[in-house]
Amino acid sequence: MNNAIPLSQPDITDAEVRLVVDTLRSGRLALGPRLEEFERLIAEHAGRRHGIGVNSGTSGLHLCLEALGIGPGDEVITPAFSFVASANCILYTGATPVFVDCDPRTLNVSVQAVERKISDRTRAIIGVEVFGNPAGMAELAALAARYELPLIEDCAEALGGRHRDEPAGRFGRLAVFGFYPNKQITTGEGGMIVTDDDRLADLCRSLRNHGRPPESTEAGQGLGSELDHVRLGYNYRMSEINAALGIAQMRRLCELIEARQNVAAAYTRRLMGNIDIILPTVEPETYMSWFVFVVRLSDRFTAENRDYIIDGLRRHDVGSSNYFPPIPLLPFYRKRFGYRPGDFPVAESVSHRTLALPFFTRLTGREVDLVCQTLELMMTRITFART
Ligand SMILES: *Cc1c(COP(=O)(O)O)cnc(C)c1O
Repeated sequence: MNNAIPLSQPDITDAEVRLVVDTLRSGRLALGPRLEEFERLIAEHAGRRHGIGVNSGTSGLHLCLEALGIGPGDEVITPAFSFVASANCILYTGATPVFVDCDPRTLNVSVQAVERKISDRTRAIIGVEVFGNPAGMAELAALAARYELPLIEDCAEALGGRHRDEPAGRFGRLAVFGFYPNKQITTGEGGMIVTDDDRLADLCRSLRNHGRPPESTEAGQGLGSELDHVRLGYNYRMSEINAALGIAQMRRLCELIEARQNVAAAYTRRLMGNIDIILPTVEPETYMSWFVFVVRLSDRFTAENRDYIIDGLRRHDVGSSNYFPPIPLLPFYRKRFGYRPGDFPVAESVSHRTLALPFFTRLTGREVDLVCQTLELMMTRITFART
């Protein structure tokens, strides 16, 4: 073992190991009672009628768009400042992503900017709780309702967060959680759609399972309907093994979030005196479950300065990364759609100066101190031209 501090790390205890091993010994590895229980736990947590477990958050987003019948010729509004999956899912359907710049404080989309992008070809709005911050989600849901457009809530980064007493996952007509190992809880790989809409839930269940009728489950059961593929579907199922891991993690959700809040509080206390570091904005009436701890450097730092600091942290065995480059400026999107620097000025300016610090439940106070010391050391090495 070395003393490296990773960017993130899952929190797995004997409880998780036991439930996964029990599942392996049960003989039932797909579409069984673990998946049903995990779906119930997530749906209940988000205050929704249905949970549909899938093999990734990205698959979940894709199915939401398919279930809404979105395809070529349609436009879907999505944030410029997010993880690439919140735009790729639109391209899978043949529809066109329409990007919206972010609010410089919360880093979520500016609701006014979303309204300006609504056209007569808009078929849905994807809203993302960026870095787990649910700020503005209620306003976005209200805007979507006013235009009779479905809101798909990409809450992959926000499990356990709340805004004005509404949990993340309750704002969209459909909402999607993600369980990659750096999220608040993990299933290894996995995701979950939640919704109150019975018809959309049935469609998602069918689409994740090769287009079979939603009530049919495992091979050997209900043979009559088993090969009855009523629509073009996918295999986006979540296995019993992944679901077991998810159940054990959900039973520890409060503990996991409390630990994340403690680490976030330690970083905040340690860094709030530094005028060159902009800390995450937490609005009133917001309960953060903390996906990552991303700080922003002040305006006198350039993107090159930021990259130098990230490199310096890594050379000192401290994990760091530049969350996120704006999606439209990623090489693939530039080439396909011709986006250029300057098209999304706020997202660009923010993304030049953001850096993610190591963040996970077991990060100790001493490690937080060491990370911050190293960060500040790297910052002092930047020399600024006199003006
Ligand atoms: C993690 C994440 C997803 C889902 O990612 P998967 O790796 O496919 O599970 C989707 N959107 C956002 C914003 C995310 O951060």
